[in-house]
Amino acid sequence: MTTLEILTIPDPRLKRKSIEINSFDDQLKKTVADMYETLYATGNGIGLAAPQVGILKRIVVIDLKVDGNSSPITFINPKIVRFSETKSVNEEGCLSIPDYYSEIERPQEVDVEWFDEDGNKSNKTLNGLLSTCIQHEIDHLNGILFIDYLSKLKRKLAIEKVKKNQLKHNK
Ligand code: ZN
Repeated sequence: MTTLEILTIPDPRLKRKSIEINSFDDQLKKTVADMYETLYATGNGIGLAAPQVGILKRIVVIDLKVDGNSSPITFINPKIVRFSETKSVNEEGCLSIPDYYSEIERPQEVDVEWFDEDGNKSNKTLNGLLSTCIQHEIDHLNGILFIDYLSKLKRKLAIEKVKKNQLKHNK
Protein backbone atom coordinates (compact mmCIF):
# COMPACT_ATOMS: atom_id res chain seq x y z
CA MET A 1 0.00 0.00 0.00
CA THR A 2 1.07 3.55 -0.65
CA THR A 3 0.41 6.73 1.26
CA LEU A 4 -0.74 9.31 -1.26
CA GLU A 5 -0.18 13.05 -1.17
CA ILE A 6 -3.27 14.99 -0.07
CA LEU A 7 -3.92 18.06 -2.22
CA THR A 8 -4.74 21.30 -0.45
CA ILE A 9 -6.49 24.44 -1.64
CA PRO A 10 -6.16 26.21 -4.01
CA ASP A 11 -5.18 23.14 -6.10
CA PRO A 12 -7.44 23.29 -9.20
CA ARG A 13 -8.01 19.51 -9.15
CA LEU A 14 -10.15 19.99 -6.03
CA LYS A 15 -12.62 21.98 -8.16
CA ARG A 16 -13.08 19.32 -10.86
CA LYS A 17 -15.93 16.85 -11.20
CA SER A 18 -14.98 13.19 -10.77
CA ILE A 19 -16.05 10.39 -13.11
CA GLU A 20 -18.00 7.22 -12.27
CA ILE A 21 -16.33 3.87 -11.73
CA ASN A 22 -17.53 1.25 -14.18
CA SER A 23 -15.06 -1.55 -13.53
CA PHE A 24 -14.68 -3.13 -10.10
CA ASP A 25 -11.20 -4.44 -10.78
CA ASP A 26 -7.89 -4.85 -8.92
CA GLN A 27 -6.88 -1.31 -9.80
CA LEU A 28 -9.95 -0.02 -7.91
CA LYS A 29 -9.13 -2.23 -4.90
CA LYS A 30 -5.57 -0.90 -4.86
CA THR A 31 -6.78 2.70 -5.02
CA VAL A 32 -9.21 2.04 -2.14
CA ALA A 33 -6.45 0.41 -0.03
CA ASP A 34 -4.11 3.35 -0.72
CA MET A 35 -6.86 5.80 0.24
CA TYR A 36 -7.41 4.07 3.62
CA GLU A 37 -3.66 4.06 4.21
CA THR A 38 -3.58 7.79 3.44
CA LEU A 39 -6.61 8.49 5.64
CA TYR A 40 -5.18 6.58 8.61
CA ALA A 41 -1.79 8.27 8.17
CA THR A 42 -3.41 11.66 8.86
CA GLY A 43 -4.25 10.56 12.40
CA ASN A 44 -7.35 12.75 12.66
CA GLY A 45 -9.13 12.34 9.30
CA ILE A 46 -12.49 10.54 9.16
CA GLY A 47 -13.15 10.68 5.42
CA LEU A 48 -11.28 11.01 2.14
CA ALA A 49 -12.54 11.46 -1.42
CA ALA A 50 -10.39 10.33 -4.36
CA PRO A 51 -10.02 13.82 -5.91
CA GLN A 52 -8.28 14.88 -2.67
CA VAL A 53 -5.40 12.61 -3.72
CA GLY A 54 -5.59 13.75 -7.36
CA ILE A 55 -7.67 10.79 -8.60
CA LEU A 56 -10.76 12.22 -10.30
CA LYS A 57 -12.98 9.18 -9.72
CA ARG A 58 -16.12 8.72 -7.61
CA ILE A 59 -14.55 6.89 -4.66
CA VAL A 60 -14.97 7.83 -0.97
CA VAL A 61 -13.59 6.11 2.12
CA ILE A 62 -14.92 6.90 5.59
CA ASP A 63 -13.93 5.58 8.99
CA LEU A 64 -15.62 7.27 11.94
CA LYS A 65 -13.81 4.92 14.37
CA VAL A 66 -17.02 4.35 16.31
CA ASP A 67 -16.22 3.79 20.03
CA GLY A 68 -12.54 3.74 19.09
CA ASN A 69 -12.98 0.76 16.78
CA SER A 70 -12.12 0.91 13.11
CA SER A 71 -15.35 0.91 11.08
CA PRO A 72 -14.43 1.56 7.45
CA ILE A 73 -17.10 2.08 4.80
CA THR A 74 -16.14 2.28 1.12
CA PHE A 75 -18.49 4.22 -1.13
CA ILE A 76 -18.13 3.76 -4.90
CA ASN A 77 -20.36 6.00 -7.08
CA PRO A 78 -22.32 7.24 -4.01
CA LYS A 79 -25.53 9.06 -4.82
CA ILE A 80 -27.93 10.87 -2.50
CA VAL A 81 -31.47 9.91 -3.44
CA ARG A 82 -33.27 11.77 -0.62
CA PHE A 83 -32.43 14.71 1.64
CA SER A 84 -34.40 15.28 4.85
CA GLU A 85 -36.11 18.64 5.18
CA THR A 86 -34.77 18.96 8.72
CA LYS A 87 -31.35 20.58 8.78
CA SER A 88 -28.56 20.38 11.30
CA VAL A 89 -25.48 22.50 11.89
CA ASN A 90 -22.15 20.83 12.52
CA GLU A 91 -18.57 21.93 12.66
CA GLU A 92 -16.66 20.70 9.62
CA GLY A 93 -13.02 20.48 8.71
CA CYS A 94 -11.25 19.09 5.67
CA LEU A 95 -7.87 17.44 5.04
CA SER A 96 -7.54 19.67 1.96
CA ILE A 97 -8.11 22.81 4.09
CA PRO A 98 -5.80 22.10 7.03
CA ASP A 99 -6.45 23.68 10.42
CA TYR A 100 -9.63 25.47 9.37
CA TYR A 101 -13.04 24.64 10.84
CA SER A 102 -16.46 26.18 10.39
CA GLU A 103 -20.09 25.43 11.17
CA ILE A 104 -22.04 24.30 8.12
CA GLU A 105 -25.77 23.67 7.76
CA ARG A 106 -26.84 20.57 5.84
CA PRO A 107 -29.84 18.23 5.66
CA GLN A 108 -29.82 16.14 8.85
CA GLU A 109 -30.51 12.83 7.16
CA VAL A 110 -29.85 11.44 3.68
CA ASP A 111 -30.72 8.27 1.80
CA VAL A 112 -27.63 7.13 -0.07
CA GLU A 113 -27.13 4.52 -2.77
CA TRP A 114 -23.62 3.22 -3.37
CA PHE A 115 -21.53 0.24 -4.38
CA ASP A 116 -18.78 -1.44 -2.41
CA GLU A 117 -15.44 -2.23 -4.06
CA ASP A 118 -16.79 -5.61 -5.26
CA GLY A 119 -19.74 -3.96 -7.00
CA ASN A 120 -22.41 -4.87 -4.40
CA LYS A 121 -25.10 -2.21 -4.13
CA SER A 122 -26.34 -0.71 -0.83
CA ASN A 123 -29.10 1.75 -0.06
CA LYS A 124 -29.29 3.18 3.46
CA THR A 125 -30.58 6.10 5.45
CA LEU A 126 -27.59 7.79 7.05
CA ASN A 127 -27.76 10.25 9.93
CA GLY A 128 -25.57 11.92 12.52
CA LEU A 129 -21.89 12.34 11.77
CA LEU A 130 -22.01 9.79 8.94
CA SER A 131 -24.66 11.89 7.14
CA THR A 132 -22.59 15.07 7.44
CA CYS A 133 -19.46 13.24 6.37
CA ILE A 134 -20.90 11.56 3.26
CA GLN A 135 -22.48 14.86 2.11
CA HIS A 136 -19.10 16.57 2.55
CA GLU A 137 -17.29 13.80 0.62
CA ILE A 138 -19.83 13.61 -2.22
CA ASP A 139 -19.39 17.37 -2.59
CA HIS A 140 -15.68 16.68 -3.22
CA LEU A 141 -16.67 14.37 -6.11
CA ASN A 142 -18.53 17.33 -7.60
CA GLY A 143 -15.70 19.82 -7.05
CA ILE A 144 -17.41 21.50 -4.09
CA LEU A 145 -15.58 22.35 -0.84
CA PHE A 146 -17.27 23.15 2.47
CA ILE A 147 -15.84 26.68 2.38
CA ASP A 148 -17.92 27.23 -0.79
CA TYR A 149 -20.95 27.47 1.56
CA LEU A 150 -19.38 30.34 3.49
CA SER A 151 -19.60 34.05 2.71
CA LYS A 152 -17.02 35.38 0.25
CA LEU A 153 -15.15 37.13 3.06
CA LYS A 154 -14.98 34.04 5.30
CA ARG A 155 -13.87 31.93 2.34
CA LYS A 156 -11.09 34.38 1.57
CA LEU A 157 -9.93 34.30 5.20
CA ALA A 158 -9.90 30.48 5.14
CA ILE A 159 -7.78 30.41 1.98
CA GLU A 160 -5.36 32.98 3.40
CA LYS A 161 -5.03 31.01 6.63
CA VAL A 162 -4.17 27.81 4.75
CA LYS A 163 -1.63 29.61 2.55
CA LYS A 164 0.01 31.23 5.58
CA ASN A 165 0.27 27.86 7.36
CA GLN A 166 1.81 26.28 4.27
CA LEU A 167 4.49 28.98 4.11
CA LYS A 168 5.29 28.29 7.77
CA HIS A 169 5.56 24.53 7.18
CA ASN A 170 7.73 24.97 4.10
CA LYS A 171 10.30 27.16 5.84
ZN1 ZN B 1 -13.01 17.45 2.73
